[in-house]
Amino acid sequence: CHTNLQGARRRRPVVGGQAISSPDRVVDASTGTTKLDIARYYATVAPLLLPHLDQRPVALVRAPDGIAGALFFQKHLERITLPGVIQLDPALDPGHASLLEIDSLPGLMGAVQMNTLELHTWNARHDRIERPDRFVIDLDPGDGVPWDKVQEAALLTRTLLTELGFTPFLKTSGGKGLHVVTPIKRLHDWDTVKGFTKQLTEHLARLMPDRFSALSGPKNRVGKIYPDYLRNGRGATTVAAWSARARAGIGVSVPIGWDELAAVTGGAHWHLGNVEERLRVGAGPWAGYDKAAVSIGGPAKQLGAVR
Ligand code: ATP
Ligand code: MN
Ligand code: MN
Repeated sequence: CHTNLQGARRRRPVVGGQAISSPDRVVDASTGTTKLDIARYYATVAPLLLPHLDQRPVALVRAPDGIAGALFFQKHLERITLPGVIQLDPALDPGHASLLEIDSLPGLMGAVQMNTLELHTWNARHDRIERPDRFVIDLDPGDGVPWDKVQEAALLTRTLLTELGFTPFLKTSGGKGLHVVTPIKRLHDWDTVKGFTKQLTEHLARLMPDRFSALSGPKNRVGKIYPDYLRNGRGATTVAAWSARARAGIGVSVPIGWDELAAVTGGAHWHLGNVEERLRVGAGPWAGYDKAAVSIGGPAKQLGAVR
C-alpha cells in the first residue's frame, strides 16, 4: 500500500472543523503551549466566547511565531484571508478597510489557524455602530501595587456604578488587572459615553486620591490604580471574555461574580493550564447581563450634581 510521507510529515489535525497547520509549533515556551493546544481551547470555549463576539467589530492579535515573536494587532484583513470571518460594510469606518466580525465556529477557527491568540471587541454592535451598548473601566495596577488594592479598587468602582443605578459586571483581563464592564442602553454617542466615563474615573480619583490616580503614565501611578476610561472611544477595543492572552502563561479573560473576587489571585488567575474546570461555571456569573442595560442619562446628571 502507498504511504504518503509528505502527508505524514505535515500533520494537520482537524479541530473545530478546521485543519490546523504546524500543530506542534510552540506558542509559549514558558508553558510549552502549542498551536494545537490553542486551537483545542478555542474549539472548546467557542459556545461561551461567540456570544461575546456577536455583532461586534473584532480586532485580532496574531502571533505567527508565538508570543516571543512579533505580534500583529489587526482591525482589518491585510494580506491574509480568513474564511468565515465577516468583513463589515466599509461605510462603518470610512476611510479604512472593512472592519471584521466573527460570528461562527468556522470564523473563529479560521482566525486561530491564522495564528490568532487574542480577540478584542468594540463597545458597539454593527447595526448601531454610533451608539455604544456598554462601557469598560480597565483597572490597571501601577508598578508595585499589591493585588488586594486592585480588588478593593474594583469594589469601589462597583459601589459608585451601583449607586448611580448601573449593574456592572467583572472579568479578569488575563493579564495584570480587571475589567469592569457595564451594559448601557444604546442612546448616546461615543463622545458622550467616553466623556461620562472620564468623569467617573476623575470622580473616583477625587474621592480616593490615595487609591486612584486620574493621570496615566507610570510616574502618576506609583502605588495606585489607574482606572482607564480610554477603552470607551470609537474604535477602541477590549479583550473579549474567554479570549486567551499573548503573554507568558497564556492567561484567559474570565467573567467572574462580584462574590468571587476575594478568591481571585490576579488578572491571570485563569490561564490555559487551569481554565478547563472554569468552563463548567461558564456564563453563570454574568447572568442577567442582557437585561441590565440602563441609560447613562440619569447617572450623568447625578454625577454632574455631586462634582
Ligand atoms: P492588563 O490587565 O494587563 O492591563 P489589558 O487587556 O487591560 O490587560 P492590554 O493588553 O495592555 O491591557 O491592552 C491594551 C488595550 O489596547 C486593549 O484594549 C487592546 O484592545 C488595545 N490594543 C492592544 N494592542 C494594540 C495595538 N497594537 N494597537 C491598538 N490597540 C491595541
Ligand atoms: Mn488593563
Ligand atoms: Mn490600560
